[in-house]
Amino acid sequence: MLSLARSELAWQEAQRYLAGGVNSPVRAFRAVGGTPPFIQRGAGARLYDLDGNEYIDYVCSWGALIAGHAHPDVVERLQRAVERGTSYGAPTELETALARRVVELFPSIELVRFVNSGTEATMSAIRLARAATGRAKIVKFTGCYHGHADPLLATAGSGLLTFGIPSSPGVTPGTAADTISLPYNQLEPVEEAFSQAGGEIAAVIVEPVAGNMGVVPPAEGFLQGLREITRRHGALLIFDEVITGFRLAPGGAQELYGVQPDLTCLGKILGGGLPVGAYGGRRELMELLAPLGPVYQAGTLSGNPLAMEAGLATLELLRRPGAYERLEALSARLADGLRRASELAGVPVAVNRTGSMLTAFFTSEPVTSYETATLADTARYARFHQAMLRRGVYLAPSQFEAAFVSLAHGDEEIDRTLEAAEEALREIA
Ligand code: PLP
Repeated sequence: MLSLARSELAWQEAQRYLAGGVNSPVRAFRAVGGTPPFIQRGAGARLYDLDGNEYIDYVCSWGALIAGHAHPDVVERLQRAVERGTSYGAPTELETALARRVVELFPSIELVRFVNSGTEATMSAIRLARAATGRAKIVKFTGCYHGHADPLLATAGSGLLTFGIPSSPGVTPGTAADTISLPYNQLEPVEEAFSQAGGEIAAVIVEPVAGNMGVVPPAEGFLQGLREITRRHGALLIFDEVITGFRLAPGGAQELYGVQPDLTCLGKILGGGLPVGAYGGRRELMELLAPLGPVYQAGTLSGNPLAMEAGLATLELLRRPGAYERLEALSARLADGLRRASELAGVPVAVNRTGSMLTAFFTSEPVTSYETATLADTARYARFHQAMLRRGVYLAPSQFEAAFVSLAHGDEEIDRTLEAAEEALREIA
């Protein structure tokens, strides 16, 4: 039996001082129930909580830790860096080095700007797209998450072109009105939106592989279609590669699918576990940013030396021969094993995977869209989550998230995970 006695005390205390006990809502385990284990440390693919429980981690700081926890190369670079100071608010060669690496890996990016989170990256990319086109409206897809900036916290209205309605109190109807929310993986509604309001649409922003409704890969031709439609109408295409960047290929989903966006948003892996975001694109777009151009965006800690060092160390590790092949092979084995386990237990599960991101949806139907993702049995997922946690496997505390495999995972972790999954699925059958 899993003892979470110390975590329970820590959880009570956290709720006295932090809103909801957490600094990001999903961490509160509301969707799966139970006390969230309070983490004391991480090492490789493992997490250790206050009660001394060990878990194989598939959250990996929501995809940031592709090298695993406390990788010695990352730690050593950070230790050396911290001695030299934590932030200067002045240029460093580290920022250039990491920017150079991004530009080398992403042919669509000629210039980069670092920020501190994925939210800042998408928020700033949208401001830039609006400035570049002189248009106000943004197209996004329901179920894609681009951080918590106001214009991106809007959901679809009932009709196609009833423009977005706020999906959080505090987002004004005026802000949401400039957001058009359409169904992911369908080109027709995009065509229709552009035929009705094309002259007003600044950009289409998309997760090229959706990760935030659970993993939903792009339908054949979807990304290419978005590229073609936006180009035809003079709008920009923004790939939010905060999750997929450096994960699906060195040059992200755009490399994997061969589609070049106008602007790219990055984060997570780029900071190697420290707070980072970035956006980048063609020179003439990025040169609209202050100090060269009129579009304002700034940051006290942007490009801070610790995040730059952790990012550089992580990208170095991904450069090692066989890194992506290893991620692919382990993830394929995990996905295949989960499918087999679900058949054995007679619990229908649809496993979606692109590279080292995957989701096991508790549904018997293929998941190809937000609508089909939301048919998943969330109560069953909650029981699965609890059963896996008891067996030492730490999955995302929500059905609609990705599991991430890191370079620190190995055959042993996958084997143990699959054993646990077989038992857990039998338990909840
Ligand atoms: N874009 C995507 C695709 C994300 O998955 C996330 C966060 O999970 C964000 C943007 C926002 O990033 P952050 O949480 O760093 O603000």
